Amino acid sequence: MLKALKFGGTSMADAKQYQKVRDIVRADPSRRVVVVSAAGKRFSDDNKITDLLYLCHAHIQYGVSYDDIFDTIRERYIGIRDALGLKTDLESEFDALKQKMDSGISREELVSRGEYFSALLMAEYLGFDFIDATKWLFFHYDGTVDQEKSYPALRALVTEKGAVIPGFYGLMPDGKIRTLTRGGSDITGALAAAALDADVYENWTDVSGILMADPRIVDHPRTIERATYSELRQLSYSGAQVLHEMTVFPVREKNIPLNIRNTNEPDHPGTLISDEFKEQQNNPRFITGIAGKKDFSIVTISKKGMAGAVGTLRAIVEIFEDNTIPICYTPTGIDVISLVVPSEKLTPHLYTVTDELRTKIHPDSIKVTDNIAIVAAVGRKMAYRAGTSGKIFAALGEQGINIRMISQGPDELNILVGVDEKDYAATIRVLYDAFVK
Ligand code: ASP
Repeated sequence: MLKALKFGGTSMADAKQYQKVRDIVRADPSRRVVVVSAAGKRFSDDNKITDLLYLCHAHIQYGVSYDDIFDTIRERYIGIRDALGLKTDLESEFDALKQKMDSGISREELVSRGEYFSALLMAEYLGFDFIDATKWLFFHYDGTVDQEKSYPALRALVTEKGAVIPGFYGLMPDGKIRTLTRGGSDITGALAAAALDADVYENWTDVSGILMADPRIVDHPRTIERATYSELRQLSYSGAQVLHEMTVFPVREKNIPLNIRNTNEPDHPGTLISDEFKEQQNNPRFITGIAGKKDFSIVTISKKGMAGAVGTLRAIVEIFEDNTIPICYTPTGIDVISLVVPSEKLTPHLYTVTDELRTKIHPDSIKVTDNIAIVAAVGRKMAYRAGTSGKIFAALGEQGINIRMISQGPDELNILVGVDEKDYAATIRVLYDAFVK
């Protein structure tokens, strides 16, 4: 049995958190591979080390002294080391880093150092091996991960003793350090779990699993106990913020369950994500979660006869593609199609796009509606349930919320409603009350 764990920034923020991490790891001998983030916030106004490292690099670029920021970073790690009575020679590490910074360091290498220092300390504290991410996480030149090379490399390095691995970065074919996008340690953890065929990937953070709705909108929402990978993907894509949205792919390929847990509440089972579940009979709840995002525009194109015509859809999509506008959803009617797109991508090209639509498609009308929020009700059990959309219509109608668009995914895993942004929070609350409460 092998469990791969990832601890996020708040779990690595100070010596007290390191102790919690050690207790968690020691509570189960199969917890042998640990991926760590850089030190995060200890309190709400605190700084994240990764942010400070980005700031350091900006100072270098503009030729402004970065000494104060550098000292803050240095003291944070030395403080953790001393409070835990560890011996890692951080002084030499920081001296070497400073020399590199003065002689020219890439931004990606500099910002990766937060994870590097966290992992050095945690490895000593747990008595595990330190395995640098540059020794196994290899990228292709296009920035995608070279799984064929990376997975065996990690397998060759991990021993029975256990390993701590820095998250967030790896190595390019030319030997340079490359970072993943922000929050990328989640992906490193998933890749490590997949490389080692772990029995489970535990992602330890500061919330007890994924909540069924945004707690800033719904009062004390319930925790999602179990969700499928597809549901998690839908929820993250639709706006739920718990994990990096690319996290599921490596573990899903290997069918490794993903368990989201809370370092500050280790007895809470959190959320378990897996390929499928034996459904509990008689469970009346068939919505897994509700998520949403604002800042969408809907472009509605009508043209008589479009429904039966060949190639019109392709021609429309091509215009959006040429203007690098991603299409998020495409609800259609007879002779009418709507394209739901992020407003920030549409706005700079709006006139070009409408002009091209006019000249190439010759539509009867084009209508653009801005300030739209898309709210998704996600649930694998919706497929077996008649009347779900009806219930959504009724609940929103009763509250006087005007539905601007509705769409059900062909996999019947989600129902999306587009509403005016002013109705965003109310829509989430109404759906929560109707389906969860
Ligand atoms: N430290 C990095 C960030 O703040 C990566 C991570 O924590 O996952 O984005």
